[in-house]
Amino acid sequence: MNIIFLGPPGAGKGTQSKLLEAHYGIAQISTGDMLRAEVAAGSPLGQKVKSIMASGQLVPDDLIIALIEARIDRPDCAKGFILDGFPRTRAQAEALDSMLKKTGRHIDLVLLLDVDEDALADRIAGRFTCAKCGEGYNDLYKRPKVEGTCDVCGGHEFVRREDDRRETVAARLKAYREQTAPILPYYEEQGRLCRIDGMADIDDVTKQVFAAVDAITKK
Ligand code: AMP
Repeated sequence: MNIIFLGPPGAGKGTQSKLLEAHYGIAQISTGDMLRAEVAAGSPLGQKVKSIMASGQLVPDDLIIALIEARIDRPDCAKGFILDGFPRTRAQAEALDSMLKKTGRHIDLVLLLDVDEDALADRIAGRFTCAKCGEGYNDLYKRPKVEGTCDVCGGHEFVRREDDRRETVAARLKAYREQTAPILPYYEEQGRLCRIDGMADIDDVTKQVFAAVDAITKK
């Protein structure tokens, strides 16, 4: 089962794709996380993309396509994968289809998290994660059960993404509107797109997501 999660920044792709990974045992792949790891490691790729990411722009297609091509060939993707944050342009969507075709695979389902743009800036500004285990939280929706302590690992240090600052969020939303939203018709025409109401409660969104995946599995 190969799944894509689409939706603007702050729609809940990361949260929902991790829940899918845990439930169905298929690998979750976040290109944003992969790139942040490259930046943190100071690798040549990290150095190339650092300022692009900090400004909220998209990194060049050739770099991200090469990264994904290598990633989906790894053994943990044999049972399937969930893409979170890729593709983000029409060129990436087409490149993905052709790389999958080479290995006899295809995308089974594209889940679009539909959200009101007005809600996104506040959602994104509220995000933070545990520095130790990466568990995600939000000032508005999901605070740690014990203030200052991670629910999962008991860590006490939390971090906020540099590009989650309000100034950068506007550029990220613009990139989504101008470069990513135009790929929706590509998947819609192929009958692979399933719209999910991303404004519902987190649990309710998860129910919709699992129902969409189950419907495909039973086909
Ligand atoms: P994300 O964590 O998915 O919000 O991604 C953070 C940043 O990484 C984006 O704002 C882009 O600068 C970069 N990025 C992640 N995925 C892609 C992609 N598929 N294409 C281009 N840039 C990407």
